[in-house]
Amino acid sequence: MTQALYCKSDVSVFIVGAGPGDPGLLTLKGAECLKMADVIVYDRLVSDDILAMVPDSTEKIFAGKAARDHFMPQNEINQTLVDLANLGKTVVRLKGGDPFIFGRGSEEAMFLAEHQIDFEIVPGITASAGCGAYAGIPLTHRGFVTGVRFVTGHCREGQHLDLNWKSLADPNTTLVIYMGLINIEKISKELIAAGLPADMPAAGIERGTTPDQRTVVTTLERLPECIERAQLKAPSLLIIGKVVELSDTIAWHTQAHECMMDGDEVTSAGAD
Ligand code: SAH
Repeated sequence: MTQALYCKSDVSVFIVGAGPGDPGLLTLKGAECLKMADVIVYDRLVSDDILAMVPDSTEKIFAGKAARDHFMPQNEINQTLVDLANLGKTVVRLKGGDPFIFGRGSEEAMFLAEHQIDFEIVPGITASAGCGAYAGIPLTHRGFVTGVRFVTGHCREGQHLDLNWKSLADPNTTLVIYMGLINIEKISKELIAAGLPADMPAAGIERGTTPDQRTVVTTLERLPECIERAQLKAPSLLIIGKVVELSDTIAWHTQAHECMMDGDEVTSAGAD
């Protein structure tokens, strides 16, 4: 085997970000870790193309989580990592996107630290960077916005989504919402009620960076209906802000669907 350049062989656990799907977006370090691991503990969000990079002989453990359908509870995942490391195995904990952005990588790292297991964190391209790039939506653009916020649109089981809508409703900030599909109706209504213009450009991106990527581009007010019509499914990312209108010009991977609403169809059919 060739000498490892990036993944030190004396480290027990590598918590690796797999990026949003396109295997070309995996870091060199992440790719090397996949080759040298004895065992991979991977999430549902990790794409098949990335799993295909793991040698057949490597043990693979699925720890996948779908919202509402927890496959392996987090404490069990944590314990599995510790147990495997204590067996002397080199473990790769492979997670979608970046481990430290809505990825619970830090919870796993804390557990490893408490159990004196040495680990490294290998960052990955987070969904917002990947989806933004592949949908032609820059998260910032000079003269358009002064910042970007990453927000979760999901809340713990049985709880209400209780975000600080006033602070989020800033037309000069791009809002990127992870796990937002389930609460899209509420998100759209609350942001408008808090002062964000109803016609603020908004996008939903499903399976960003993969060959199956689908993007819808519309307005904040119409986003829930548009997502419903296009039947976007998880994993999907929502981007709200002036930057979304740039996708018209710089989308390169797949073209966005414009959502035709009932009202639109009537207007165009009736225009004579
Ligand atoms: N750690 C991950 C995020 C995990 S939370 C990261 O950094 O990307 C899961 C949410 O991420 C999904 O519900 C979705 O909102 C988003 N997501 C992850 N991969 C995605 C993809 N390929 N396309 C669109 N959204 C994605």
